Amino acid sequence: MKIGFVGLGHMGAPMALNLLKAGHTVAVFDLSASAMQTLADAGAQKAASAKAAAGGAECVITMLPAAAHVRSVLTAEDGVLAGIAKGVTIIDSSTIDPASVKEFAKLAAAQGNAFVDAPVSGGTGGAAAGTLTFMVGGSAALYESVKPVLSGMGKNIVHCGETGTGQVAKICNNLVLGVTMAGVAEAMALGEALGIDPKVLGGIMNTSTGRCWSSDTYNPYPGVIETAPSSRGYTGGFGTDLMLKDLGLATDAAKAAHQPAYMGALAQQLYQAMSSRGDGKLDFSAIIKLYRAQQG
Ligand code: NAD
Repeated sequence: MKIGFVGLGHMGAPMALNLLKAGHTVAVFDLSASAMQTLADAGAQKAASAKAAAGGAECVITMLPAAAHVRSVLTAEDGVLAGIAKGVTIIDSSTIDPASVKEFAKLAAAQGNAFVDAPVSGGTGGAAAGTLTFMVGGSAALYESVKPVLSGMGKNIVHCGETGTGQVAKICNNLVLGVTMAGVAEAMALGEALGIDPKVLGGIMNTSTGRCWSSDTYNPYPGVIETAPSSRGYTGGFGTDLMLKDLGLATDAAKAAHQPAYMGALAQQLYQAMSSRGDGKLDFSAIIKLYRAQQG
């Protein structure tokens, strides 16, 4: 297929690379010239704008930080909606709020295009390995139509329900993730303070009831999991400011639904504290720095 791909960050770049590997023709656009060059070196076509990336495409994928970026990439004069052919589907894999998804779906429908929310989980490792989980919101027919493209980037392609429900699944998942990472960080730092070897503690946790993705894949204590961002200076993972954004989406959605979100609200404040001390760009597992103050 001929695919337009906009947003080549930590997630988008490896996802677009996997589409190339799957044999698709991919036209890419990002504000970062170096991100575009990396994809061009792998065989992608560099587009001069989101509009150009969408021009002639049979499917357009966006992977951007937040709803404001998606809105601008879609609606700008040189945006996707200005370049896309009628009947072509737009797949947005960014994590954004369900209300914006519905708004974008209406905008797209007004000019004869379908819009699918398909946020992902699996982190940068899953993006590189092509093992992401996609949470797809849209009609059953639309889900079937995007499945073959998404299969080039993920292993688990789940139909969540109507437009916006992919984001509902994603927001709820990340509420758990934000809370469990804070919990694992708290426990690892406490164990260190009480004198146990963090590697021993991490090993026990990962074969015991405390085991979770935050402990066995992205353990926040450096050196416990060699492939975790914590073992490379908290780089190249899931940015703290993105987690903060997602917890904001969860608490906003909870407010709108008159649902309590006690843990989510507290976790949001912890990541806010990290962000305000200048750690917003580090992987979110750097939350352990709040507990290991003497390490800086
Ligand atoms: P990122 O900040 O690394 O990448 C975003 C990219 O979008 C950047 O390359 C940026 O230059 C580009 N961009 C921004 N505005 C643009 C515009 N107007 N036109 C073209 N390009 C533009 O973010 P990421 O980590 O790749 O995350 C992307 C989305 O996926 C976010 O919504 C995030 O919440 C979600 N997500 C991230 C992870 C993760 O582990 N990093 C996991 C699951 C979901």
